[in-house]
Amino acid sequence: MDRRRFIMTTAAAALLIGCAETGWAVAPPKAPFRSSRKDAVKISEERWKEALDPLSFYVLRQGGTERAFTSPLNRNKADGVYLCAGCGLPLFDSRAKFDSGTGWPSFFQPIAKNRVLDRPDDSMGMRRTENVCARCGGHLGHVFNDGPRPTGLRYCMNGAALAFLERRRVSELGDPPKVFLGARLPSSKAEPRTPGARP
Ligand SMILES: [Zn+2]
Repeated sequence: MDRRRFIMTTAAAALLIGCAETGWAVAPPKAPFRSSRKDAVKISEERWKEALDPLSFYVLRQGGTERAFTSPLNRNKADGVYLCAGCGLPLFDSRAKFDSGTGWPSFFQPIAKNRVLDRPDDSMGMRRTENVCARCGGHLGHVFNDGPRPTGLRYCMNGAALAFLERRRVSELGDPPKVFLGARLPSSKAEPRTPGARP
């Protein structure tokens, strides 16, 4: 058992378990993801490794979990959208973000239901619902039913799985949203804040 779990309060432990799945260990492989989207992103793991920083690769491609309170996006209150750090698909609006106190960026709903997919996750001896990007299958986090109104849901996301883009730049994403590997927008002078970057 993780030593940290002994020193936390029961409530905090419950919240942490809500997001953490394996600490820094790699989660066991689940059934391969198959996107039904026309713009599904299917590239080799080698290519993903080139496109992503090590922490984002660990989270998105290996199902890992970042340490709580380490992502700059956890405290980000700026107005904009959160993209999949793997493929650049807009997943969450900042208007749906709230401070859950867990140390991970939390949202009460995705931009659209068909952008963030649910998958059953029975790891760690409990039944949870994993979230993956609908376009590239990248692991994002888990969703729980203890969130605020209006949905009552808490999408507990790894900041390393997301990249933030200010609202004034959302038009650069295209409609339908184009694929930007590693959430790197070629048209912009400054890239959206990448998950591994320090503020
Ligand atoms: Zn994606």
